Amino acid sequence: MARYRGPVCRICRRLAEKLFLKGEKCYSPRCSFERRPYAPGQRSARRRKVSDRGLQLREKQKARASYGVLERQFRRYYREAVRRKGISGENILRMLEMRLDNVVYRLGFADSRNQARQMVRHGHLSVNGHKADIPSHVVKVNDDIGWTGRGMKSELFQVAKEQVASRPLPSWLSLDGESMTGRVLGTPMPEEIGAKFDPATIVEFYSR
Ligand code: SF4
Repeated sequence: MARYRGPVCRICRRLAEKLFLKGEKCYSPRCSFERRPYAPGQRSARRRKVSDRGLQLREKQKARASYGVLERQFRRYYREAVRRKGISGENILRMLEMRLDNVVYRLGFADSRNQARQMVRHGHLSVNGHKADIPSHVVKVNDDIGWTGRGMKSELFQVAKEQVASRPLPSWLSLDGESMTGRVLGTPMPEEIGAKFDPATIVEFYSR
């Protein structure tokens, strides 16, 4: 499955927002955004007035970068969000949160969504006891997320087991740190997600 493979710190600097795409580095003084809090490129010092459309685009790019979703797939999320009942912006947010790679990250099994996606792709995780290697797989309420035999033999499992207790767990997930399995208890509330972007603005962007 396609994904962005370029330097991710440039995205934070370009969008003028810390998006926490690199795990541990994001919380350290090595964070590129902390060291150089301006847009990359030689002309970055020039201040440009951003149009409303530009601001909407920026929100959408932040969302895509945060969850590692390419444009085509993101547009699909938008269409589905509009089709569903409720507030479209909140629907987009929930769909992104219920992706398997995000749930693995939220459970504290990985220190970034990028790492979670890689773990899923490598067949380290399971859903309801069956190997699940598609990062965009949408989990459902009462699904159990665990590790495959291969995953449990990996170094990442040992690291996760040591660190999982110190990572924050949202209320819509539960975790058994001993067996290293998690359960989806419900759907996430938008205020608990702490998104770095405004979903309503994204809806405005696409609905034009
Ligand atoms: Fe963004 Fe993290 Fe890179 Fe800092 S270290 S610029 S928060 S991805």
